[in-house]
Amino acid sequence: MKKLAAAVAIAAVTGAPSIAHERPLGDGKITSSPRVDYLMSCQQRFNANAPGAHRTGDWISGNTYDTDEKPTVDGSVNWPSRISVSLQGNERVVSSNNLPNHPTGNFPIARNDDAYQYDRNPNRISEQNILLRLPANPQLAANASCVPMGMIGFALSGVAIYNAVDASGRDAPAHEIQDKCGGHPQRSGQYHYHDLSPCLTDTRSGIAGHSNLVGYALDGFGIYGLHGENGEVMTNADLDECHGHTHTVMWDGAPREIYHYHMTNEYPYTLGCYRGTPQRVAGERIANAGERRGPPQAGERHAGREQFGDRPPRQTIFGLFRRQPRQGRP
Ligand SMILES: [Zn+2]
Ligand SMILES: [Zn+2]
Repeated sequence: MKKLAAAVAIAAVTGAPSIAHERPLGDGKITSSPRVDYLMSCQQRFNANAPGAHRTGDWISGNTYDTDEKPTVDGSVNWPSRISVSLQGNERVVSSNNLPNHPTGNFPIARNDDAYQYDRNPNRISEQNILLRLPANPQLAANASCVPMGMIGFALSGVAIYNAVDASGRDAPAHEIQDKCGGHPQRSGQYHYHDLSPCLTDTRSGIAGHSNLVGYALDGFGIYGLHGENGEVMTNADLDECHGHTHTVMWDGAPREIYHYHMTNEYPYTLGCYRGTPQRVAGERIANAGERRGPPQAGERHAGREQFGDRPPRQTIFGLFRRQPRQGRP
């Protein structure tokens, strides 16, 4: 998609500040103990040359970046999304194929896509077998704990939520190129967000205009949209080190005073740490895959074939359907 420079140009003409879509850059804000504005990452050492966006975008300037200036991955591919969330005893069971209920861009990123100049993400989106058993009534842990690379939560749109950084430990929404819905796949094909997806509608039917639930963290606590107790847009200053707070929200259809996380437009965007006790995820291979890029290693390729058989990827199937001329059909 072409860069959206028009809004900035208009702002320059009218003299209005063009800061609305500027965000502070989160690079370097990794901590090993809870700290506001930081990501308490389980991984503390990062390889600066890890695969990812290979060129620094010109939408990044100094300590900020402009989301309006950043390109997105072209395309509009639809997927057979499947997600169910059910309460079973003390557990909340989330089952999903990790395919989103909204269109995605074309992955791998095509050579003729302007995003390719910055990020040559070679991965294609593939179905995952997600089965999360989260505590239905999560409790605060004695201590906050670090968030890993890979999945840290799950969005109600049917896809994984990752932490704020890429494989090099940089601010992922700033450096990596996502599609129009703010998502992209990593090496095992898992499509994921690093911040609030624009396609994940931030509805506000909650108490006093509080955002509705948009997903669950792997410790079982809810993740809500941008709006807080009085409908105001949340900033890190309103939240604790883990990016959450406690007050009455709608929880399983009833008002309840409970800890919850908020999405923000500020790094670390989703969770800064876990305030509860994260659950182990079935299929650790996916959970720990993080942001790695490139063709699978021998072992992974074998595992992938076992999991998905020899069918062509669904994206290819859709592409073929779309290219069939309708007139030729009986
Ligand atoms: Zn809140
Ligand atoms: Zn990513």
